[in-house]
Amino acid sequence: RIVVAGSANMDLVGLTPRLPQPGETVLGDDFVMMAGGKGANQATAAARAGGVAVFLGAIGSDAFGVTLSSRLAAAGVDTTHVRTSYGVSGVAVIMVDRAGENAIVVAPGANNSFTGLTVAEEAVIAAGDVLLCQQEIPVSTVTAACRAARAGGTRTILNAAPARELPADLLANVDLLVVNQSEAVAITGTPEPDVAGLLALVPRVVLTLGAAGARYAERGGPDEHVPAFRVDAADTTAAGDAFTGALAVAWGEGRDLTDAVRWANAAGAACARQIGASNALPTRAEIEQLYGT
Ligand code: ADP
Repeated sequence: RIVVAGSANMDLVGLTPRLPQPGETVLGDDFVMMAGGKGANQATAAARAGGVAVFLGAIGSDAFGVTLSSRLAAAGVDTTHVRTSYGVSGVAVIMVDRAGENAIVVAPGANNSFTGLTVAEEAVIAAGDVLLCQQEIPVSTVTAACRAARAGGTRTILNAAPARELPADLLANVDLLVVNQSEAVAITGTPEPDVAGLLALVPRVVLTLGAAGARYAERGGPDEHVPAFRVDAADTTAAGDAFTGALAVAWGEGRDLTDAVRWANAAGAACARQIGASNALPTRAEIEQLYGT
């Protein structure tokens, strides 16, 4: 049982020949709307990877909120405890030009109202095998969720994305930190990812390395490079979410972390093969198929 406490956003994507200048209007090519947000994406990734996934978060009392929760439920995520708060849902306004360059505004909306965990939410966290958090909701909520997990004997994964300052009372309850290279650099303030520096903060670190796979290191334990699966990458959007959701599932199933990271690499690679974001999150069968190669 994987409990994801995080964000849900509606991604509104305008496809355009070129990105407009300030004050300019450009006649676009197309428009697509997708469910997104790192929390919802990772909960979806976990469910598609075969985990029992519960999402804790807040959606707005608007039409996007209805769509977001029905997309999660359709993916097999337990949405029983999702809050509906008065106001707008989280929205990402995205422009993508024909070269794939983008410009994005994220309006957090309801995600910022996800504060002050309820007794019921704390009980859900305590009943999980793994709690998975990202950083698109208030830091006080992430801190409270990890504290509730620690108190309930639930292991915690923090995917520190997007990077922001990590308070000591949060770090104290993180069992495993998952970061990509730019997040690692932002956290330690070093020119290159510094795994030893990260291990000074948390006991276990997984550093994702894109097409090179990932590095898994434990304080006073292993430090190994887990190679990627070779695929024809079409679009690496959401590869990190696929990786992290699958990692939580594998770790929750009791697999050792080296094997869990290898399985997560298969999920990330399977996602990178396909164009799209939440629609490209692989099923368990797709992960197994690559993992077996
Ligand atoms: P993010 O998308 O968060 O920046 P990465 O680019 O490090 O994260 O990708 C996350 C994971 O997805 C990698 O650790 C790897 O397992 C997988 N992945 C990403 N790009 C590729 C690729 N081109 N080929 C194979 N696997 C990939």
